[in-house]
Amino acid sequence: MTCRALGGGLLLADSTRGPPPHLFNTNVWLNIRVRLEDRVLAALTVTDGMTRAELVEALGLSATAVGPVVAALVESGRLHVERADGGSAAGGGRDGGGPGSRRRGRPTGLLRVPGPVGVVATVTASVAEPRVGVATMSGRRAWSAAVELPTGGPGAPLEAVVRAALDRAASCAEGPVRHVVLSVPAPFRFGVAEPFAMPASGPAYDTPIRDDPSPGLAAALGIPVSAENDANLAALGELDAGAGRGHSDLIHLLLDGDSLGAGLVLDGRLHRGAAGFGGEIAHIHVDDLGAPCACGSRGCLTGRLGQPMIEAVEAAWGVPVTWAGLLQLAESDDLRAQRVLVDLGRLIGRPLADLVTILNPGAVILDGRLGAAGRWVAAGIRDQIDRYTAPGAAATVGVVGGELPDAVAVGGARLVRTEALAALRTAGGGRAGSPSRSARAAD
Ligand SMILES: [Zn+2]
Repeated sequence: MTCRALGGGLLLADSTRGPPPHLFNTNVWLNIRVRLEDRVLAALTVTDGMTRAELVEALGLSATAVGPVVAALVESGRLHVERADGGSAAGGGRDGGGPGSRRRGRPTGLLRVPGPVGVVATVTASVAEPRVGVATMSGRRAWSAAVELPTGGPGAPLEAVVRAALDRAASCAEGPVRHVVLSVPAPFRFGVAEPFAMPASGPAYDTPIRDDPSPGLAAALGIPVSAENDANLAALGELDAGAGRGHSDLIHLLLDGDSLGAGLVLDGRLHRGAAGFGGEIAHIHVDDLGAPCACGSRGCLTGRLGQPMIEAVEAAWGVPVTWAGLLQLAESDDLRAQRVLVDLGRLIGRPLADLVTILNPGAVILDGRLGAAGRWVAAGIRDQIDRYTAPGAAATVGVVGGELPDAVAVGGARLVRTEALAALRTAGGGRAGSPSRSARAAD
């Protein structure tokens, strides 16, 4: 499989010293205690570069505190200033208080750490269908691909999945992997894993995660690791660089042939819920006599989606059907397939309509992987919102398609930026309790 990247690679010319290696070889973000100089370098590395104003805001410090440090780093060549037009870096003394910088005034370009652009590898925590998404630290470029396990098959430990994913990422990534994010396709409490009564195994979750595997994996791999629910990551991705831009309140639906999850963004922040169950729309109760569910309940919405839905379609049509095939049929004007997708939208849309009344989001965003076929799912959801949502909330919510086929990967990069910048602000006594606008935007 070939690498798929959005846009060209960006490699800075110099290889002078960047941030200390120890900033990137352990889970340091939550315990970092380093000098302002190192925090500046770390903040610029984890974001792929910022303007001076963005840097000051991200660290929660004053311009007078940050300015001299930046000037010294530029003077020594440890930072470059990239012009707004994307031209060559301007390092050395021109921006460090020398005659050139006086003539030009304060630069308006991006401050960047010389060297290759780092990437975040977001790995699906699944031995049955492992995938890896790779995004630059800024999230501006991303791709994803399936992963082949060398030892293959169920039973392979999660570490083997991540190692195989990193090998796959290294074959295409335009820079070093700075951070691994585990994308968990199941309810997951950030930093804890599953504190509620999930079964040890079951058809819904091929790789149950009882405890947060991040610390153990970080120690084994020598690279920082975070873990987050996949629907939450996708919501962060669309919020960061897709259809969610400009929205402070949105619901994103991660939907494929096997699963449904919702990521909630409220007041500009990811809403995980008290136990990490926020947004688990697939586990809304819809059938008193429905089958027992992996979540411990019965009659959940998920029992009517995925494989049961595909099997019902196959039985009716008398031909093998896949989820991808269903989407293709709809796009090729197959009215039966379009009807199935509209009805799927209505099925999801009924409980979603109540959620829209309660949360009053500005947008319901569909999985970008649905492509053009998503419009029939959107039509079904719109139908239910118009019928059941309170008019005041229905009138202001848009039901739109996602813009990112790799939203989970982009969301992984955003999650890492959020963690890192929050830790860097706290480390320096910044305004951790009242995060700046740019810091909030990273959440
Ligand atoms: Zn359930």
